[in-house]
Amino acid sequence: MFDRISIRYKLIVLLGLSAALALLISSAITIYSTYLSESRSSLRVLHQLTDVISENMRAALAFADAGSANTMLASLRADPHILLAVVNDESGRALAEYRSAGLSTAAEPRFRAEVQGRILESAEALRREDGFVEHIDNDFMAVVRPVFFDGKPIGLLVVVSDTQLMWAKIRELVLLQAATSVLTLVLLLFLSVKLQSLFTRPIMNLVAAMQDVARTKNYRAVLGSDRRDEFRNLYDGFNAMLADIRERDDQLSRLATTDALTGLANRRNALDVMQTMAARAQRKDEPLGVIMLDIDSFKNVNDRFGHPMGDLVLQEVSLVLQASARDYDLVARLGGEEFLVVCDCGTQEVTTAVAERIRAGVEGRPISGPAGEALQVTVSLGVYSAVPRAGAEDIEEMIRAADKALYRAKEAGRNRYVVA
Ligand code: GH3
Ligand code: MG
Ligand code: MG
Repeated sequence: MFDRISIRYKLIVLLGLSAALALLISSAITIYSTYLSESRSSLRVLHQLTDVISENMRAALAFADAGSANTMLASLRADPHILLAVVNDESGRALAEYRSAGLSTAAEPRFRAEVQGRILESAEALRREDGFVEHIDNDFMAVVRPVFFDGKPIGLLVVVSDTQLMWAKIRELVLLQAATSVLTLVLLLFLSVKLQSLFTRPIMNLVAAMQDVARTKNYRAVLGSDRRDEFRNLYDGFNAMLADIRERDDQLSRLATTDALTGLANRRNALDVMQTMAARAQRKDEPLGVIMLDIDSFKNVNDRFGHPMGDLVLQEVSLVLQASARDYDLVARLGGEEFLVVCDCGTQEVTTAVAERIRAGVEGRPISGPAGEALQVTVSLGVYSAVPRAGAEDIEEMIRAADKALYRAKEAGRNRYVVA
């Protein structure tokens, strides 16, 4: 199911969930540690108060002066959080007591019982001058300490306070934490929505490029990028794959369009190119020059020097052809030892000049074989020049006309050109 959701949403959800979890854990830890430190400091404050009261209570206890003991406790009214304060004499009887006006009668028995229990539990400790009992829970906290006079315990002081201040601080912190968490989460989600494109855009680019290549079959398309991360490897891999396909394509089309022995255009390619040249010449109303060429007595070369020498002659002749034609002319090997040259803008004058250049070039180029044997070959050429007419038939007709002229050149004694 997860693989049906887009990477974009997966990233956003992942970031949001991890951020929420991290915030939750850190908030819980902060709140708990604040609870611990706040409860400790609340108790410390109550201890300080108890210390002061017990100090002042010594004389009242020593002389069983309930009046001044009550007056002293009554001063606690100034602190609205003090719920109850009791001074017991040594026999456990209450000498004085202060009860806050806001003391809930429902809650009082519970914390009285709780404090009483703690006093009984720690009776031994309360007989030491530095002994004390403390208690804190959600609703109240209490400190009990002995009052000493002349090194002897003469009574017990109990002060009970509510925990409202502590909870107010913790509530404040929880609110602050919640607000900070929500704000952080919103900010993070916003950022993750913005930042997810850092990851998804390169992938989308790659997908788009792949679809583009698949649609257009244009393997020359290359994914450009100045990235330095793992996407670079992905892009490089994709580009390398395209380059391989391109190379194979080029190789295939080279094999399909050129002649392996001479590197010249082969017959099929020659006819295609000539067709294009003819169409252009026709549009411009310019003549196209066609030269058909055949090596003279080539069978003899093969017979006397062997087939490899014949191949060498074919390559040498093709070099002369390439040197004699202009860049925008077509030079092709139609098969065997027959060649075709098509001159762009080939008036009869230009075409015969090219034909003569070829003839003279081949004649003036003695060929030496692998064993040092010298050989001079000649060629015969048929020349035809005309402004092409409409229809594919026409280039075939032009070639046929040049071929006929070539035949006549052979008949006339070879090593020459004849104009149709
Ligand atoms: P002509 O002057 O009348 O043209 O005489 P020719 O001997 O050249 O006669 P023709 O054109 O009939 O001979 C073609 C010969 O070319 C036949 C074949 O042995 C040879 N040939 C054709 N293709 C190749 C090739 O690729 N390599 C080699 N070495 N010889 C080839
Ligand atoms: Mg021939
Ligand atoms: Mg020949």
